Amino acid sequence: MSDRLKKDLRNLSLEKIQTTLKELEEKTFRARQIYYWIWHQGVKEFHQMSNLPKDLQAKLKERFYIRSVELKEVQYSSDGTLKNGLKLYDGKNIESVLIPSLKRSTGCISSQVGCSLDCAFCATSQLPRMRNLEVGEIYDQVQILDSQSRKNFKKSLNNIVFMGMGEPLLNYKNVMKAIERIITSRNLQISARRITLSTSGIPKMIRRLADDEPRFKLALSLHAVREEIRNSIMPFSKNFPLTELLDSLKYWYSKTKDRITIEYIIWEGINDQQEDIRALVKFCKAVPSKVNLIEYNPIGKSQFRQVNEKKLQEYLHTLEKNGIVGKIRHSRGKDIDAACGQLANKNSLIPSGSNEVFIS
Ligand code: SAH
Repeated sequence: MSDRLKKDLRNLSLEKIQTTLKELEEKTFRARQIYYWIWHQGVKEFHQMSNLPKDLQAKLKERFYIRSVELKEVQYSSDGTLKNGLKLYDGKNIESVLIPSLKRSTGCISSQVGCSLDCAFCATSQLPRMRNLEVGEIYDQVQILDSQSRKNFKKSLNNIVFMGMGEPLLNYKNVMKAIERIITSRNLQISARRITLSTSGIPKMIRRLADDEPRFKLALSLHAVREEIRNSIMPFSKNFPLTELLDSLKYWYSKTKDRITIEYIIWEGINDQQEDIRALVKFCKAVPSKVNLIEYNPIGKSQFRQVNEKKLQEYLHTLEKNGIVGKIRHSRGKDIDAACGQLANKNSLIPSGSNEVFIS
């Protein structure tokens, strides 16, 4: 079979692998073995599937490939954070980050090449073109981070945040499938409760997610609760009024009984007024949530400047006075542009190609 007609084995469900085996006049129990090799062991070559007969390995190789992500470059931060530059099968580039701490090892992974949204403060949104990542491409990032964590820090990866490049809810199906593969993998051993999906806030997709009642956690990049301000710094949100967003979060809570983490950066002269904090308090009181006040990571020349520590503490105090749990979150990996919002393939030699992105 010509390479053009071959398919990626990792885009097939277990049932589809079974059907394929029937077509090949093979025993269907082999499907579980194949599934085990690709999703539990993470193998990328057919000859590594050692309990399959050689002729079946050959038949599979004839019809399928397993496209894997290629680790091109690793950068190390002085604080121990490590950033991976990864190349995809079509030459496009993404990044993932490993953040070690005393107790944990956290992987920050990407869900899209670039991002379809337009947050003015985020470097990823400045990347020109993009596409959704495939299930295997999301899975591979986790596999690579896990082996780096074991090798460098002598512990396995135990936390995942979808806070790398892209908007995970705009690559819904693949992100959900990848998470399913990750939490069921015997090798990875990452529990759903240690996975956080961060979204910029697309109400329709939050409702869809709530209906699926996942066990992982949800974070919302809120950043402003006055509509006109949110619309100016996150222009896509003009299509999604805050009342709609809040309703979708209430719906999420009604389905999952899991409180939401609200991510909020405070910028001088943008969202640092009394009415901003009042609006944030009101929002948080409307739905069970906690607030992470995130440190802003400057991206090139921009009008955004974070407020000083005193103001941050004041904000935190007001939240606490109102019974809302808040934390100030300092960034890691800033010296290598690995912190939140800084992932922009700065080191990539190969420009990203073009492709449309859609809700799948
Ligand atoms: N699209 C998703 C996930 C990627 S961004 C989302 O928006 O949530 C992950 C987090 O980094 C979000 O909270 C985002 O608002 C934040 N972020 C973006 N740019 C940033 C910057 N320059 N400094 C600090 N955080 C930033």
